[in-house]
Amino acid sequence: MDSPHQAQQAWQHINPLLRANEPRRVVIVGAGATGVELAAELAKVSQRLGRYSQAAHLQIILIEAAQRILPAGPVRLSEQARRALIRQGVDVRVRTRIQRAEAGCLFTANGERIGSDLQFWAAGIKGDDWLTELDGLETNHLNQLKVSATLQTWQDPDIFVIGDSAECPQPDGSFVPPRAQAANQAACHLATQFKRRLKGRKLQPFVFHDGGMVIAIGHNNAVGALANNKLILKGRLIRTLYDAIFRLHQQVLFGWGRVTALILLKRLKDILNPHYKGL
Ligand SMILES: Cc1cc2nc3c(=O)[nH]c(=O)nc-3n(C[C@H](O)[C@H](O)[C@H](O)COP(=O)(O)OP(=O)(O)OC[C@H]3O[C@@H](n4cnc5c(N)ncnc54)[C@H](O)[C@@H]3O)c2cc1C
Repeated sequence: MDSPHQAQQAWQHINPLLRANEPRRVVIVGAGATGVELAAELAKVSQRLGRYSQAAHLQIILIEAAQRILPAGPVRLSEQARRALIRQGVDVRVRTRIQRAEAGCLFTANGERIGSDLQFWAAGIKGDDWLTELDGLETNHLNQLKVSATLQTWQDPDIFVIGDSAECPQPDGSFVPPRAQAANQAACHLATQFKRRLKGRKLQPFVFHDGGMVIAIGHNNAVGALANNKLILKGRLIRTLYDAIFRLHQQVLFGWGRVTALILLKRLKDILNPHYKGL
């Protein structure tokens, strides 16, 4: 899901399942941040609707190929998130690689068949195909353009790439992750590097500093890895931090005036509207 339109389309598929007269199964492939947040949110919806009708029950299966969910985060964060999901009734399956998908059915690499009423693919990002067609520039299997540590393409040092479209190596041999904070840091880095370049000075490499990770688990809960992954926290306070980060992000885009208006509007809607619409 990458746009409000796609989110609405997804909701149009979820909505009938919640109206069904018998339990329905949703399978989410990929337990990164998106898959985990989606599973937790759907579990919460199902739980809330269960107060009105036992029929509106979703069986949610979250499938991950790696050894643990949230494999990009620290082990303790994964464990906290796994426990929270299981408490919410989510069936979490790790070390399970999906090989093939058909309408109503997914097949694992071991040949297991997993029936589903709705499937979500949340197993990572891939760049647009046209990135592979830029004359002579090398891309990886995710269609990211390969760049050096200074964010310059290997083939042409006058072309810089930042954000999700770049495969940028780091000193420890890893690559810069496709995250908003990484894109933001790379943009700031490049702004200073351009000044250096104009002065004829050597460019410095971009090193990503991980400010942490906060994952929402339902409405009032979140898990977070902060202080260079030394601090693993969970609960309502971390959920407040999650919401604050979201508002700070909006502030960068829209300014405080509009963000304040959005917060007030949301409060008003929460008072006037039911939490879930269209049921
Ligand atoms: C559902 C979801 C949840 C996420 N949650 C988090 C999170 O909690 N924390 C986090 O750190 N990261 C998160 N991310 C990742 C984060 O959004 C990205 O890493 C970040 O937006 C990358 O920034 P970017 O500028 O490289 O790309 P984008 O933000 O995708 O911006 C690229 C822009 O280029 C435009 N564009 C594309 N092709 C063309 C073209 N040919 N011509 C002109 N314009 C074009 C696109 O429309 C888009 O506006 C999430 C991503 C998704 C999809």
